[in-house]
Amino acid sequence: MEEYGNWFELQMKNRIRIYNRQRAGMTIFIGISMAILLMLPAVAIGEIFTVCFSILCTAIFMICSLSFVLSGRASKGLFIVTIIIVASQFILTQKDLELLLILMVVNIGTFFAARLTSLRFIQSVTQEIETVHALKVKANTDNLTRLLNRNGLEQAINTAWALYQRDQKSIGVLLVDIDFFKRFNDILGHVEGDKILKQVADKMRECFKRKTDIISRIGGEEFVILLPDIRDDDVVEMARDLLSAVTSLGIKVTTGLTCSFLTVSIGIAMGIPQSNDSFIDFYKCADEALYHAKGNGRNCISYNQKIIKNFFDYPQSNPMDSVQAPGQHFGTGDGLSDSVSC
Ligand code: GH3
Ligand code: MG
Ligand code: MG
Repeated sequence: MEEYGNWFELQMKNRIRIYNRQRAGMTIFIGISMAILLMLPAVAIGEIFTVCFSILCTAIFMICSLSFVLSGRASKGLFIVTIIIVASQFILTQKDLELLLILMVVNIGTFFAARLTSLRFIQSVTQEIETVHALKVKANTDNLTRLLNRNGLEQAINTAWALYQRDQKSIGVLLVDIDFFKRFNDILGHVEGDKILKQVADKMRECFKRKTDIISRIGGEEFVILLPDIRDDDVVEMARDLLSAVTSLGIKVTTGLTCSFLTVSIGIAMGIPQSNDSFIDFYKCADEALYHAKGNGRNCISYNQKIIKNFFDYPQSNPMDSVQAPGQHFGTGDGLSDSVSC
């Protein structure tokens, strides 16, 4: 889709180039024709100055208007000034009124032709730009949840990553996966499954409200959330809010005697991105943490090799009271950056 957008832009540039060539050709042609037409009677009656002046103004006005050198208001101004000067020349010297009329008609005709051509051109370019923009938004948005899709996430990160590195502020990356989603789909059906995905996406929007927060659905029931300029405690707190919010939806399925509520597991990676760090380092780290959370009973958060349970299910006065020692050790090995912790 990205490639299609680029191809579209290239096509537009080509069209603008062709249009410019046509415009230049047309301007020269009209200019020459007008000069020949107007100079003939002028030579005969000897009113060369007035006629030449009018031709010059008309030609300048037309070229400026067609090449967008003048704005709509400025070309109107030039048009009125030309008319006034030429008319006053004729009235003061009481010259041939027929010639005055010809010059006026030529001026008015030029004005409207130039205005119409430039407006049409602006309209068509605006439409094309809007189409390209709409296509880009579509290519970056997940149809079901209206969150960013994988492509949108890549685009957003490409733009923002250099800023994160320059600002040297902590960022948090959350990898969220719905627990046993297959079971919900199998029992409730795919249409209900889709509704659940939308509800979970809405909860994410409620929990992560900052304009700079990036929320995306990168696969079936997997989401990536990027929170820039944030402290560790706040990330954990917000992730806990999301756990509670999803559980509070009260979506449940019953298999035999067991009834299970819809929950999510979250892996967190935190750190200050250094110049040699990439988003992939943070993603890998969050992925390991998510795996850790899944291996520790799901419906929990894994951060900094610790498991943080769902506050909604296990009320605790202090969020960190519920931290459990992990069953398994996850370092920052596998070539992961030292500046990321997960
Ligand atoms: P785990 O807790 O280990 O993540 O288990 P899980 O069942 O959530 O994970 P698994 O990868 O086994 O299943 C994911 C399911 O997500 C499989 C598929 O039915 C469902 N799914 C993927 N994309 C969509 C979608 O767009 N709509 C719906 N309704 N379901 C989807
Ligand atoms: Mg899952
Ligand atoms: Mg999954």
